[in-house]
Amino acid sequence: MMEAKEACGVFGVYAPGRSVAHLTFDGLYALQHRGQESAGMAVSDGDLITVMKDMGLVTTVFDERKLSGLRGHLAIGHTRYSTAGSSDWMNAQPVFRGVGRAGFGLAHNGNLTNTDALAEQANMLPGLVSSDSDLVAELLAQAFPPDLPERPRSEHAGDLERALMEVLPKVEGAFSFVLMDADRVIGVRDPNGFRPLCLGRLDATDEYEQGWVLASESPALDVIGATFIRELEPGEMVVIDGKEVRSERPFPEERLDPRLCIFEFVYFARPDTTLYGNEVHGARRRMGQLLATQRPVQADLVMGVPDSGVPAAEGYALGSGIPYGQGLVKNRYIGRTFIAPTQAERANGVRRKLNPLRENIAGKRVVVVDDSIVRGTTTRAMVKMLREAGATEIHLRISSPPFRWPCFYGIDTPDRSELLAAVKTPEEITEFLDVDSLEYLSLAHLVEAIDAPGAGFCDACLTGTYPVPVGVKVDITERPAVTAAAGSPTA
Ligand code: 5GP
Ligand code: SF4
Ligand code: MG
Repeated sequence: MMEAKEACGVFGVYAPGRSVAHLTFDGLYALQHRGQESAGMAVSDGDLITVMKDMGLVTTVFDERKLSGLRGHLAIGHTRYSTAGSSDWMNAQPVFRGVGRAGFGLAHNGNLTNTDALAEQANMLPGLVSSDSDLVAELLAQAFPPDLPERPRSEHAGDLERALMEVLPKVEGAFSFVLMDADRVIGVRDPNGFRPLCLGRLDATDEYEQGWVLASESPALDVIGATFIRELEPGEMVVIDGKEVRSERPFPEERLDPRLCIFEFVYFARPDTTLYGNEVHGARRRMGQLLATQRPVQADLVMGVPDSGVPAAEGYALGSGIPYGQGLVKNRYIGRTFIAPTQAERANGVRRKLNPLRENIAGKRVVVVDDSIVRGTTTRAMVKMLREAGATEIHLRISSPPFRWPCFYGIDTPDRSELLAAVKTPEEITEFLDVDSLEYLSLAHLVEAIDAPGAGFCDACLTGTYPVPVGVKVDITERPAVTAAAGSPTA
């Protein structure tokens, strides 16, 4: 059970007077890159919570007619992606539970690591829980006081918050939650802060009162005109039910250990997102600059693999002095190929997504910069395309270390047997991808590029060191034969 792994986008808004459904739509649209499988929102008008969710993109699930019917002063929203097997409506979010006065909704980005133990505590038989997010909702619902019809409205006020204070300390793994009941929006970041979550403010205008916003990434604040206030701290819970934001600490002090996912910087987050106080784009450019100092090469052109490889390619060109140019055009209307459910669809997706600019690359020695290699499927197809377009040499540069271990904290990764760097040596990878040379950014250079002194990261998929114990789905004690070749000796 619980195969679902979610690397999603979450959003919440408390904004009396404004159309929170439209604000949530815009916020989710800005977070579409974090999940393209399903989208949903829950809106409260203070009495009634309405949930609308479905499979598909934000623009598929919602239209003007639906949005204008969703009235209220607060809302939460979610975009989701998951593994192929669990790609169904049941797992679309927000999750809703009809307890207390009007029920509550929950949107989750991350993946829990102690789901089996929690399911047992909740007296749920294995197989009955459709996702770890559903399980948390169930635990919270069980922690609500019994539903007595005569309980006055005022007595319900703290139910969700109290349930969270009781349940959260038992939950382990990666979770950025945005929750709501009829009257409040609540944000929670796990004690390691694996996944991002930030707070923004909608300033009061002549027309509207001040409001508050929670979002996975800061561009979702920008798009609705909210001001970025700060990232939530690992282990922090914020409660928004009026003009002020209240901050609580549901977790014991000893569990606090900041471990923001290093792949948010490499690939996952938007380049215009602020993480650990820095804009991600700058970090990616510095990754490329530092990559250029590792294993220098003679070449005529530096190009990035659109879109995620482009900032690092700019940096590489800057660092190496080799001219930057475009070698591939990406269809603007296509999503992330990695997220396509089957291998056949993924491989096919590359052709649909990328097309070479023949005049730019024919007869040239090109440095191709990309952010990461996972299975190698798209990279291999892309290299073949560049060769067919006439590139004479292809030097592949990857702005992250070899991806060797599965993620258990919310990024959907394949089985170890499918992770290229887990099963092949660098020489074998070079041959498999048919490139003239290959170099990965070292971990030390990656951290240097992110430039957040003293900040803690999760780098388990690169090092095999998992900051929070994971289930025993893989033997994480067994090291791959290629360990010695990790990263680069130059950094
Ligand atoms: P591969 O060659 O391993 O099939 O795919 C590598 C490409 O997948 C890179 O261009 C990277 O930007 C993209 N990609 C898409 N989704 C993900 C993801 O969830 N994690 C990582 N690391 N890369 C991804
Ligand atoms: Fe991020 Fe890798 Fe850690 Fe997963 S294992 S949270 S992808 S750094
Ligand atoms: Mg890419």
